[in-house]
Amino acid sequence: MKYAHSVTDAIGNTPLIKLNRVTAGIAATVLVKVEFTNPGGSAKDRIAERIIDAAEREGKLKPGGTIVEATSGNTGVGLALFAQQRGYKTIFVVPDKVSIDKQNTMRAYGAEVIATPTNVEPNDPRSYYSVSDRLVAEIPGAFKPNQYDNPNGPASHYATTGPEIWRDTEGAVTHFVAGIGTGGTITGTGRFLKEASEGGVTVIGADPQGSIYSGGPIHGYNVEGVGEDFWPQAFDPKIPDEVLMVTDAESFAMTRRLAREEGLLVGGSSGMAVVAGLRAARELPDSAVVVILLPDSGRGYLGKIFSDDWMREKGYEVNESDDQLELRAR
Ligand code: PMP
Repeated sequence: MKYAHSVTDAIGNTPLIKLNRVTAGIAATVLVKVEFTNPGGSAKDRIAERIIDAAEREGKLKPGGTIVEATSGNTGVGLALFAQQRGYKTIFVVPDKVSIDKQNTMRAYGAEVIATPTNVEPNDPRSYYSVSDRLVAEIPGAFKPNQYDNPNGPASHYATTGPEIWRDTEGAVTHFVAGIGTGGTITGTGRFLKEASEGGVTVIGADPQGSIYSGGPIHGYNVEGVGEDFWPQAFDPKIPDEVLMVTDAESFAMTRRLAREEGLLVGGSSGMAVVAGLRAARELPDSAVVVILLPDSGRGYLGKIFSDDWMREKGYEVNESDDQLELRAR
């Protein structure tokens, strides 16, 4: 019989899928690595086990302890899956721009969720970083994984995501594209692919306009899970060969196209990564194989990116497909 011994055994080995329609006019092969097929619904399932194992080994997490983390949602779900199995409590602190659906998803796994104001400085006592630090200090037996500075995040992607891409492309991958949040995905996966290819793989970061990584002025933005206003240690800035800046409007338009044209219901950071990936792919020959990592599912954003009302309210254009326009004209 072939079965996973528990839900966490089913993490990883996510599919690589070729994009066929949004790539019109592009000669290169463009593949997406679809992380929503992880049991917790995102790439963040991959980092939780290694982070908890290390904390147990180092004595930072003891039986009956509480995991407290600042997360935009996906890391919370990944941690909750392992916390359940090992008997830990979980408290997650989220910026309030994180959708209610995503907050409720963490609650459904048994976590306590605390929402904090989004547009305050990281060192403001109300920020999600500060509130989670305070809780760790106050709660006996609390452990904060601190995904922003935890080397086990990138190490997880070095051990799993990178080797999967190398194996599934049979070493033919030439470009790897990923959004940068904590930087764990791009750092670990990119480092593995550069080493395996002896420098043959170009790594491209995707960053929301307003975030620190792409070098423009820092301001708020609406895409979730990516971009920062400080430099986390999980990110090694030497890994990406370049970082492309993508606007929220571009990210959301592409996110909607991926659902309608490719059948891929993914989140806004996935749309952002695809915008960057296609921008790079447009310049490449047909021998190039571009792999773009799509971190999570669109199910968490139905009331936002996929809602015409929300899009219009936020000032984004809502383009109807030609088919729909034709139907309406009849
Ligand atoms: N997209 C989403 C939706 C995320 O939750 C995250 C994690 N913050 C990322 C992208 C970025 O991944 P990483 O933290 O590994 O850079």
